[in-house]
Amino acid sequence: MPDNNAVFPRRALLLKLRLILLIILGLSAVVAHDKALARGLAAAQGAIAAQSAAPAGSAQQDRAAGYVLPPQLYARAVRYSREGYWLYFVTTVCTILILWLLIRWKTAPWLRNWAERITCRRWLQFVLFGPTLLLIFGILLLPTAAWDQWRMRRFGMSVQGWGAWLGDWTTSEIATALGGAVAIGLLYYMIRRSPRRWWLFLWALALPLVVLLVFIQPVAIDPLFETLEPLSISHPDLADSIEVLAGRGGLSISPQHIYLLKTDGNSAEADASSEGFGPTKSVFVMDSLIASEPRAAVLHEVGHEIGHFMFTLDWIVFAICVPLSLVLLYFIHRSFVWALGRWGAQWNIRGPDDWASLPVLAFIVSLILIIFTPAANTLSRYREHEADRHGLDLVDGIVPNVREAGARAFQEYGEANLADPDPPAFIEWWLFDHPPVNERIIFCRTYRPLTSLENAEPGK
Ligand SMILES: [Zn+2]
Repeated sequence: MPDNNAVFPRRALLLKLRLILLIILGLSAVVAHDKALARGLAAAQGAIAAQSAAPAGSAQQDRAAGYVLPPQLYARAVRYSREGYWLYFVTTVCTILILWLLIRWKTAPWLRNWAERITCRRWLQFVLFGPTLLLIFGILLLPTAAWDQWRMRRFGMSVQGWGAWLGDWTTSEIATALGGAVAIGLLYYMIRRSPRRWWLFLWALALPLVVLLVFIQPVAIDPLFETLEPLSISHPDLADSIEVLAGRGGLSISPQHIYLLKTDGNSAEADASSEGFGPTKSVFVMDSLIASEPRAAVLHEVGHEIGHFMFTLDWIVFAICVPLSLVLLYFIHRSFVWALGRWGAQWNIRGPDDWASLPVLAFIVSLILIIFTPAANTLSRYREHEADRHGLDLVDGIVPNVREAGARAFQEYGEANLADPDPPAFIEWWLFDHPPVNERIIFCRTYRPLTSLENAEPGK
């Protein structure tokens, strides 16, 4: 789903930087870990305010059925999400089309020649070439980004004015152009040094780097961008309960790694998240979540996040992705060499180590990412479903009537984010990285947590 994270520009930047690494590796399935991506359609101010006016009575009539909305809100949610699907597919087609036009119009070779005329220092040529090409690409995609913002404003999902939005967009584009140029510069340095084996070196270098980044992110990177403190300082009870949840899951999470993420009212998001692995396993609870939700809902949310740590299949997925990413990189290398051998002269591209070949490389990588999107999302939906299940098991007994608390939390989430009450099967398969809200609510209401089976208290 299109991820328009205007609320957390710094976090969005971090995500984008990480995304560049992931695109190079083709490893997106492994690391898409927290719920940030799922909030793509929703990270907007005013959402909760807009929805609090929704008639609650009619929605409550049919609790057992799942995600039920009053007719007006139902129609609104359907229109909002269907437009989001169109937006996604139009953006995807536009991305491919723009890359193709950049190749056909020989934009990159023209930029390369321009940089070469200005300076003979190679690194300086790239400083001119790289960010400029990325900015041109971003500007050509601006209409789809503006469509997204227009849609969110029409549905009351964003109250940000166009001026402020354009300011955020510009900042984000410049940061992406600079960060992306560094990554691309390194990539072409490798291609130049080893035109036949660059894909192997990239894999050998990027793989440990990505693992390291995921490992150190909660302890070394997040503190640079977020205001964090151990949750036990301000909410010792909650921190204790979270430790109990982790213990129930057979995990040990250091109390130092159960964080309060302070937003001080500057975020429309109210969420928990989990990051890291092994000794850096960390749980983040936003102060906005604690302020806006009852304790049961907070623990349910945290239970889901801890549930992610219990998903042992992640290690198998990782073990599959390690060789798969190598195969994909090799395939990218071969297609790249083949395409340039066949059309390079016609496109004014000197060879694979010529920066002007970047749109061709991006075209190939984009096609592969599109092809892998349904598989990555299917895996993600399964992971999220398992986290839901583990979450219910962990929280059961600690929170009274956890299943209903969970169902209600999902209902509220769905209403606030205009989640699609009835997504087409094809859309779910292709785009949904979390199960549809309806499924999650029905699962909450029908699942019998393991602990309640074990304890089987009467009347429960
Ligand atoms: Zn999750």
